[in-house]
Amino acid sequence: MSFASLALSPPILQAVNEQGYNEPSPIQAKAIPAILTGNDVMAAAQTGTGKTAGFTLPILELLSRGKRARSKQVRTLVLTPTRELAAQVAENVEKYATHLPLRSNVVFGGVSINPQIQKLSRGSDVLVATPGRLLDLHQQGCIRFDDLEILVLDEADRMLDMGFIHDIKRILKLLPAKRQNLLFSATFSNEIRALAKGLVNNPVEVSVASPNTTAKTIEQWVYPAERSKRAALLVHLVKDNDWQQVLVFTKTKHGANRLAKQLDDKGITSAAIHGNKSQGARTRALENFKTGQIKVLVATDIAARGIDISSLPQVVNFDLPEVAEDYVHRIGRTGRAGIDGHAISLVTNEDFKLLAAIERLTAQVIQRKMIEGFTPINPLPESSLDSRGQKAPNKPKKTASRNSRSKPRPNKNNGSDDSKSDSRPKRRRVNPNPKSRTARKPQG
Ligand code: AMP
Repeated sequence: MSFASLALSPPILQAVNEQGYNEPSPIQAKAIPAILTGNDVMAAAQTGTGKTAGFTLPILELLSRGKRARSKQVRTLVLTPTRELAAQVAENVEKYATHLPLRSNVVFGGVSINPQIQKLSRGSDVLVATPGRLLDLHQQGCIRFDDLEILVLDEADRMLDMGFIHDIKRILKLLPAKRQNLLFSATFSNEIRALAKGLVNNPVEVSVASPNTTAKTIEQWVYPAERSKRAALLVHLVKDNDWQQVLVFTKTKHGANRLAKQLDDKGITSAAIHGNKSQGARTRALENFKTGQIKVLVATDIAARGIDISSLPQVVNFDLPEVAEDYVHRIGRTGRAGIDGHAISLVTNEDFKLLAAIERLTAQVIQRKMIEGFTPINPLPESSLDSRGQKAPNKPKKTASRNSRSKPRPNKNNGSDDSKSDSRPKRRRVNPNPKSRTARKPQG
């Protein structure tokens, strides 16, 4: 299939051509015609599938047929959970709209509001926004939605995870009832379906590969590790394999900072990216990582969400995610578009349960590797897909005091990506009940 067969007009086809895209990705092939009909659409698609162009191209086509945005008015509103994703989506909109007389804007928190107010005053054919800043701007009378034609919720599952449901509901009340709604989400969970009920009318559902299936081009390994030796093991892996671009996930912001410093101290250029970093620091870290000035970017899940680097070769789980679905999200950043990627997890014996949950979810036993000098004192139990009820052996007492998990974990979610820990306690945990797997079957 070609882009030309999708009823997109020449200025859009030219922009797509300039990006070097030869053919639509599977989600684009399905979503573009569905959106062009003007229907509401629910699409199950993760970052890396080309979903952004999947909604942006048909939106630009529809917008190019109507009247330009008036002062302060917004014709299409794209809501995203994080600043990074907002910036990336906006960048994409600009690229694809480069030959069209349409104006796009982006607003998010953490940066000065005045320049945003000025830009909005000229009107936005497309406005990409995070919920909090959008509401602020609306309250200040800087945006109007009388002419709103299309609403997009991008990464809707993340928005709910991050506690944006109330903001979303407040925003929906500000919008005209007659509009086209597009809901993009990595999975169609029950929570997403509940949200969709009050949002979309008779939606066309589109989805591509099962969201819980890991890409075939990703090689996955588990390195059993002692908690206190993980940093040294990571240094060894980066140096020994001469890795040049590694995205490393940690559970907490503090852990991300500490690890970035440890790596730097060992001569591996690194930076941490999380909700406590200023927008400038985050953008700089991302840019340095993209251009190869730093080798390792250490990130928490929320900060890493939406990082758009299409050919990331290595992803490392320094800490396993607490929610098994996040493993699929994390390693989805490598092995994209047929490029080989490696996903490595450093797993301590206390985290065996998390590993077992991931293996159940992805229906695979991940191969293990061991490196001389890094064999853990407390061995990792053997995995099997039936190891669901299996518990990690009792921790030897001497490791207990070193284990940061023994401290009570914060149990709050303040609805932004600036919470103290980037782990999300409110999110549904993978149920250890073996029967539950069928209930979590990907839908759509
Ligand atoms: P997304 O899933 O929107 O984050 O897109 C992932 C990456 O795929 C981005 O770097 C896009 O520029 C790229 N991309 C989007 N559509 C296509 C396409 N049809 N062919 C090749 N690359 C694409």
